[in-house]
Amino acid sequence: MLTDYHLHLRPDEPDTPPERFFTVENVDRYLVAAEAAGVEELGVSEHVYRFRQALDIWRHPFWEEQARDDLDAYCEFVRGTSLKLGVECDFVPGAEDRTANLLEARDFDYVVGSVHFVGERAVDHEGWDAWEGKGDPDEVWRRYFEALAECARSGLFDILAHPDLVKVWGAARPLPERDLRAFYEPAVEAIAESGIAVEVSTAGLRKPAGEIYPATAFAEMCVEAGAPFALSSDAHLPEQVGFAYDRAVEFLAGLGVREICVFEGRERRLEPLGENPTR
Ligand SMILES: [Zn+2]
Ligand SMILES: [Zn+2]
Repeated sequence: MLTDYHLHLRPDEPDTPPERFFTVENVDRYLVAAEAAGVEELGVSEHVYRFRQALDIWRHPFWEEQARDDLDAYCEFVRGTSLKLGVECDFVPGAEDRTANLLEARDFDYVVGSVHFVGERAVDHEGWDAWEGKGDPDEVWRRYFEALAECARSGLFDILAHPDLVKVWGAARPLPERDLRAFYEPAVEAIAESGIAVEVSTAGLRKPAGEIYPATAFAEMCVEAGAPFALSSDAHLPEQVGFAYDRAVEFLAGLGVREICVFEGRERRLEPLGENPTR
């Protein structure tokens, strides 16, 4: 089995209205791409902050600007397709109850939990760059992984998205000088305690980081902690479905991982990891 659960039906640009992207024709493009890539399980997880209901969770100016669409219309649309229904939801510290209310009111198959922001600034967004000003890498990395640990421990989510997103800029941002495993440690502890599935995402290969999320050392620590893995591309276009899955399957096999997570109705089971796709 190969899965691709962390998918977006539209790019992150602002002028991408649902009526242009949440269409049967667009879903078909993703399904065709999945078949070509040997991906059997496909689900969509749009960013929660693009829906008006997300403003009940957080009123960050970026969210205020992005929250245009109706979450229930999205759920209804996806339910009319063969895609599994997911959502990519940011962990917002202090908003756990409001987040739970939003998620529990809908019949998602799975929820992808993300950390993009540390405080008011984002690790992956130039407009809200966490590295601006002092930008001490030790501080940014420490705060990012502390937030990731809280995200895992919150129990709100099924899959922990792009677990070391903080590396997204690669050489364009300074790297801490310490052994990076010191930063991973608190997150791995929370992953082990919570039982959340760790996302192996090929999106990092398309970014300046140029490597899979999570880094090998981080993934090895997750394996040691007994964490299960979920496999995704974080595609924002049909041609990115199953992106570089040959690398991802090799990566997982190299870690000794033989099973991946499959979700339905927020229940999880493990299926044998699929063969290396030929594409
Ligand atoms: Zn994300
Ligand atoms: Zn995403």
